[in-house]
Amino acid sequence: MTAEINPPGQSKSTLRRWLGLGQPGDASDETGTGSAADSSGAMRLSLQHEAQRELLEQISLFLLEYRLQVSPANLLAAHAAFSGANPRLARKIALKRADGQPVTQSWLDEVTASDSTDDKAETERLMAKLQSGVESFSTTTRKAASATGEYQEALTRQVDEIQRAESAEMVLSSLADMAKAMLERTRKVEEEMRRSEREASSLRKSLARAQRDAEVDHLTGLPNRRAFEGTLSRHYREAQAAIEPLTIAFCDIDHFKRVNDTHGHETGDRVIQAVGQALARISNANCHVARHGGEEFVILFRNVTRKEALEKIDAVRQQMAERRFVNRHTDEPIGSITFSGGIADVFAYPGPRDALEAADKALYRAKQEGRNQILLAEG
Ligand code: GH3
Ligand code: MG
Ligand code: MG
Repeated sequence: MTAEINPPGQSKSTLRRWLGLGQPGDASDETGTGSAADSSGAMRLSLQHEAQRELLEQISLFLLEYRLQVSPANLLAAHAAFSGANPRLARKIALKRADGQPVTQSWLDEVTASDSTDDKAETERLMAKLQSGVESFSTTTRKAASATGEYQEALTRQVDEIQRAESAEMVLSSLADMAKAMLERTRKVEEEMRRSEREASSLRKSLARAQRDAEVDHLTGLPNRRAFEGTLSRHYREAQAAIEPLTIAFCDIDHFKRVNDTHGHETGDRVIQAVGQALARISNANCHVARHGGEEFVILFRNVTRKEALEKIDAVRQQMAERRFVNRHTDEPIGSITFSGGIADVFAYPGPRDALEAADKALYRAKQEGRNQILLAEG
């Protein structure tokens, strides 16, 4: 039976709540005198949720169909294509599909790279938008599922009453049939909602994982430059407000090219890992170590003066210089690995970028003056 029925004694607002479209204040509106504005608002919300749901489905199906990873880049590309934000990409994908060709990761990387505006802020804005879309979708389905449950209970009670009635007339029996059909419908809706919620929840987890992955350097396991930039701006604000010292250090492995050239890139990678590990040992709640790129590391000290920071990094430098490394494959000695560093007091400069530059200049001086040393920035 597909007849549209208004459940007996149910107001419009109750119906809206049952549909998971309840708004703040609906709970007290039991009289069923919902205005036209209310219902058009509910309609708009319902359409929005439907559109969000469709978009999420298109994104998931696209990634699953072509076995593409749930990575920030792929999610952004799929979002851009299916939300209409990037019609060119949408056309390219549609053409691929029409030709019966698979969308491969390398193809997608290529087309998105050529389209990329390399605008990190925009990327982050989109990620946040996608995440909040997932979140609101999940909340809605949760609300709808519980409203359905409540309605189902009420309806079950009504059906029982109707069936117990002495005068089992036609009208009652057809009412019971309708109610049964409605029960079946709500059961299906609830099942569907729970399934959607599970999907949304798993998509949210994948997104969180992808976001975390995007901030970790895979060679050393340390936070990467992008993560460090976030850490720096957060601590800059906090330390400034708390009037606490903030110190930044730049370290760079000495003559690292020689290691690569003599022992190969793989051994070079292990040397980067070893230095990363040695520096990571001094990290704690007040000391944040990150790989800035290549064989360079940055360290941010909160509530630590530059002299104290110098002592800490210099201790690592000394320990490192005393170790003797051996090429694991050939047993050939690599010798000692040293690094140089520059340290700056962040608040002695107009902004965090200037402080980073000052630390880099001090590092450059350390290199010029013979390497294997940590120097304080001038000024
Ligand atoms: P200096 O003492 O002046 O710092 O000399 P250097 O040889 O360390 O300086 P340079 O910065 O010229 O060389 C860094 C080299 O590090 C160049 C690049 O090929 C290599 N490199 C960058 N990233 C990686 C990586 O992830 N793994 C490996 N094995 N090498 C890398
Ligand atoms: Mg370098
Ligand atoms: Mg170097």
